[in-house]
Amino acid sequence: MPTAVLSGRTLAVAATATALLATALGATAATAGESAATTDKVLVIGIDGAVLDRVKAANAPHLNGLMAQGLTARSTLYANPMAATSSGPGWSTIATGVWPDKHGVKDNSFTGKNYTAHPDFLTRIENAKPSLNTYAAADWEPITSTDQNGPIFSAKVDKRLSLKGDRDGYGSEDPKIAAAAATELRDQNPDAAFVYLGEIDAAGHSSGAASQAYLDAVARVDVLVGKLLTAVQSRPTYAQENWKVLVTTDHGHTSGGGHGGSSIAERGTFVIARGAGIPAGSVRDDVRLADVAATALAHVGVSGAGLDGVPLNAPDSDPFDTLRPVLQARVDETGIPAGTKGFTHTPPAGWSVDNSKMGTGGVTEWAGWAFATDEFWSQSQRDQWRELNVRSRDVFAVADSDEWDDKSHTGTFDSTLITPKWPVAGGTAKTLSFQTHYRQEAGQTAQVLVSYNGGAPAVVKSYTADAVAKAESIALQVPAGATDVQVRFRYSGNNNWYWTVDDVRLG
Ligand SMILES: [Zn+2]
Repeated sequence: MPTAVLSGRTLAVAATATALLATALGATAATAGESAATTDKVLVIGIDGAVLDRVKAANAPHLNGLMAQGLTARSTLYANPMAATSSGPGWSTIATGVWPDKHGVKDNSFTGKNYTAHPDFLTRIENAKPSLNTYAAADWEPITSTDQNGPIFSAKVDKRLSLKGDRDGYGSEDPKIAAAAATELRDQNPDAAFVYLGEIDAAGHSSGAASQAYLDAVARVDVLVGKLLTAVQSRPTYAQENWKVLVTTDHGHTSGGGHGGSSIAERGTFVIARGAGIPAGSVRDDVRLADVAATALAHVGVSGAGLDGVPLNAPDSDPFDTLRPVLQARVDETGIPAGTKGFTHTPPAGWSVDNSKMGTGGVTEWAGWAFATDEFWSQSQRDQWRELNVRSRDVFAVADSDEWDDKSHTGTFDSTLITPKWPVAGGTAKTLSFQTHYRQEAGQTAQVLVSYNGGAPAVVKSYTADAVAKAESIALQVPAGATDVQVRFRYSGNNNWYWTVDDVRLG
């Protein structure tokens, strides 16, 4: 329409004037010895069904180069009944920055999707900063096309490319996707881009992650990743730009091929990130898949408030995570691989565990509150919702009377986790927050108790129903005259379920 053309011309003139002004300012800044402002840009490369150990084993110099130049973080997914380890939930989690209990996608039917409340990160960028250029390309239709049950990336994205692979419906068009995306990245001006490559997953399904064919597919996709990286670095304005590159995957694969289930191989994912401020060759244990969107948003200055994910540049400061160096391998839990170090009974500095009411014996790993990783704890027994503990990060506290009861013991499980004494001001309001995952059965007790200045602990919360991967928040009114507070988490039970607690904070 003429009006639109006119306003476009007006905008272009304004942009030119701004550019001239910026040049003048830049010259002034340079005179003063300061560097000119850079433009923040982000590229997210999504590789379907990629297994990190196989990427490391493959002839994949670009992906392994990104790991050497940036950070590598393994993490684990949910399983059913929260969501299957399949592409719909995986890419939805990556794109939206929230877990399936919020975005609603539980499998590839996309039934229950709620992208209206939880849009993809490119749409969030368009909503907050419409002048930024967004781009998405994929050869799995639900990512960018309305032809199937998606699209995960909405029509608000400035430019979307969707190709339908002719072999399995995805993967076979990777070279065309990569070529088109490389042209866009080099010759146009995207501020945030998502590029999906599917061939590795197709090879996993046909030949298994342990196969040579899978390694060959990783090598071919690595060439395409290299083309994308070269395109970014070939931009004429690259020297004035601050690019963050993220690589991630939506789920793992079994050695024989396949995913969707709850095995640790199927639940395995990773995030690789390269950019300013990220230490070369770094490894993180506190990163989760929802952090990809949060990181992309933060990089271009758009708020990710309310997301489950947090930007990679804000590491988790949870005291439980300081225990990772002392984590031990299994003792009685024969279902957990012998090489997996993932539990300890040693609390972090200032914390304690009161086991004076515990029976004796039982499974060693779970004799009273323990501190464990998701990889370790969830493998103690699959498909009992332990995989749903998605809002814990790295090491968390766990009281599991169900697993403890699997070996002969006296008495019952009755253990109390005790925080340090935190200073407080009398008469003030405080908020006790923590991430929790609790499964209820009659006969269990799960209580949060608070004590001021060493007084008798008073119950402030009792769990009497399931609390699945819940962000808990409890209001505390500090009594007049109180100078410190101590919080207790008491769990008792037998052949029942469990309780986890993580990231306990007094705000
Ligand atoms: Zn697949």
